[in-house]
Amino acid sequence: MKAKVNQDKCIGCGNCVALTESEVFDFNDDGLAHCILEEIPSDLEEVTKDAISQCPTEAIEEI
Ligand code: SF4
Repeated sequence: MKAKVNQDKCIGCGNCVALTESEVFDFNDDGLAHCILEEIPSDLEEVTKDAISQCPTEAIEEI
């Protein structure tokens, strides 16, 4: 799977970064989250889906 953060919706709360321990999502220079992996390995899919469902602004989408 792949994931993308909509920068217009992200408020930089850090939930997705914390949940994935910066292995899938991390902050960019603007303090907003972005996906750091081109392709998310299967062992990180579950936590990525948790991050998607728990994002308060629904900024993350599976692509
Ligand atoms: S959980 Fe959502 S709003 Fe919070 S940093 Fe991640 S993408 Fe941004």
